[in-house]
Amino acid sequence: ATPTAIMVGTGKAAQNGIFMKSGEALETAGSIDTIVFDKTGTLTMGKPTVVAMESSDKKQLLALASAAESGSKHPLSIAIVKAAETEKLEIPKAEQVMTRNGLGVQAMYQDQPLLVGNRRLMEKQQLSTKAYTEIETQWQNKGYTVVWVAYGKAVLGLLAIADQVKEESHEVIENLLKQNIDVIMMTGDHPRSAKTIAVNIGITHVIAEVLPEGKGEEIKKLQSQGKRVAMVGDGINDAVALTQSDIGIAIGSGSDVAVESADIVLMKDKIEDVWTAVRLSRAVMRNIK
Ligand code: ADP
Ligand code: MG
Repeated sequence: ATPTAIMVGTGKAAQNGIFMKSGEALETAGSIDTIVFDKTGTLTMGKPTVVAMESSDKKQLLALASAAESGSKHPLSIAIVKAAETEKLEIPKAEQVMTRNGLGVQAMYQDQPLLVGNRRLMEKQQLSTKAYTEIETQWQNKGYTVVWVAYGKAVLGLLAIADQVKEESHEVIENLLKQNIDVIMMTGDHPRSAKTIAVNIGITHVIAEVLPEGKGEEIKKLQSQGKRVAMVGDGINDAVALTQSDIGIAIGSGSDVAVESADIVLMKDKIEDVWTAVRLSRAVMRNIK
């Protein structure tokens, strides 16, 4: 493409609130055939809330969960602490709080271990999960993220956390599929929860239970199958995937790391602009070939 064509193209994108960091970004965007969307905060609002609890002592469950989560900025942590505040619970003070990447958090409370996270975290500590397996499955089938809470040697119960799908997600996906672009959802969440949400917005291809470090590897795998991949994300844990992909697209209001790692930034936070970017690029490349 000529410098003039690229300048006009990136200018037009900017007028639409699509910030292309380089001429190369504009040139590449039109050639992608696969778009991988992060789930939380990209296809969903990223503002989850606690919608159900299962325990013989729900107050204790929520209080201890929020004790472990109160220092974290993870969307699930914020949801749990908010629920405890809404219930006007006093949040106990946990010690030695540690994040377990892709698993949850662990802490100590009154000299006993306190664990808040997914089933894998419970299994790593050899805790029995049997009593709650059925309800976990039920909730996951509804698209909820299930958070387990264990204190001492036993599981105390479960929290169900729901995140609303963005109003525009379904239409955006439908349109991309119509353009013969493969659409994939990628998430650290459980496959069952992820699948339910995916089906609701018209996505059939889901890559779930991916650890934050694994997201870049998943992009590489697609590329090694010959795919030209765009990644759309908002989170710190999307950064590697945004860098690895042929075109990284960040939601403007996303984390600084995501915005820095991307080639294109959607300043209006509208995922329909993913298609606008591809369309613009194709138009520019057509005109100058
Ligand atoms: P993603 O942002 O793609 O959903 P994460 O790696 O942040 O992925 O989380 C993956 C999974 O790990 C979550 O679905 C949850 O089960 C668990 N998890 C991560 N952080 C927390 C947390 N602070 N509290 C509870 N569970 C967590
Ligand atoms: Mg996200």
